[in-house]
Amino acid sequence: MLQVKYARKMSIHATHLNVRPVRAFSDNYIWLIEAPCGHDQVVAVDPGEAAPVMTELQRSGASLAAILLTHHHPDHVGGVPELLRHWAVPVIGPDDTRIAQRTLTVHDGERCELAELGLCFETLAVPGHTLSHIAFWGHGALFCGDTLFSAGCGRMFEGTPTQMNASLTKLRSLPPDTRMFCGHEYTAANLRFALTVDPHNGGALEYQSRVAAVRAQGNPSLPSTLALEIRVNPFLRCDDPTVVRAAEAHAGRSLQDPAEVFGVLRAWKDQFR
Ligand code: ZN
Ligand code: FE
Repeated sequence: MLQVKYARKMSIHATHLNVRPVRAFSDNYIWLIEAPCGHDQVVAVDPGEAAPVMTELQRSGASLAAILLTHHHPDHVGGVPELLRHWAVPVIGPDDTRIAQRTLTVHDGERCELAELGLCFETLAVPGHTLSHIAFWGHGALFCGDTLFSAGCGRMFEGTPTQMNASLTKLRSLPPDTRMFCGHEYTAANLRFALTVDPHNGGALEYQSRVAAVRAQGNPSLPSTLALEIRVNPFLRCDDPTVVRAAEAHAGRSLQDPAEVFGVLRAWKDQFR
């Protein structure tokens, strides 16, 4: 049985991770992280469905070594009971009683080491989409569930604009070359909104044509990078004068701080078609 332990002083390994997407439902991604030290072992992030994971494990001959969960929503945890029937593995997730299958709880700032797999992630609390939402960061990769999407962000179901803006600001402060693996393929729709807020954003225009080409071939637009997101994602630029002006024009009033700008943008996006 795999040992899971906390390592206070262990560094976040620089090892580049191979990460495979598994599609679930209409637009979810379950990420399978290939263990750098395991023999054909993978870690599944947010397995909302078991069947596509089982199919990919059978196809590749890999075995499941652990499950990481970012938040309690069924499209992220729904496949866990079925996967546990086949693989007795640790289930690592946030402190939330709504995640019944969790075997190990991780808190903000804690490092979670999967020693035998050569994996180590730092846990980041990112409340907003849900109050207990966490992200896993390590090896130059970020698994951020439904907090940050490419060119957008998750809906604010449980948190406040101040909380969610702080969470996104925390993610923005990670190294720019961090590869961002989020929970849904929403990039094209998000870019339509991003370009409504910021129509002259050259990076977003260029990204839009690149995403259209990639999606036309049936490939994921992900992972993205934080550097790209900082350029194109209005939700990461709530302190940028262009984004502030657009939010103020939409709200018809002046806005005092980035959290208020975030609140206006999020409500605007909720209505956007
Ligand atoms: Zn969710
Ligand atoms: Fe989701």
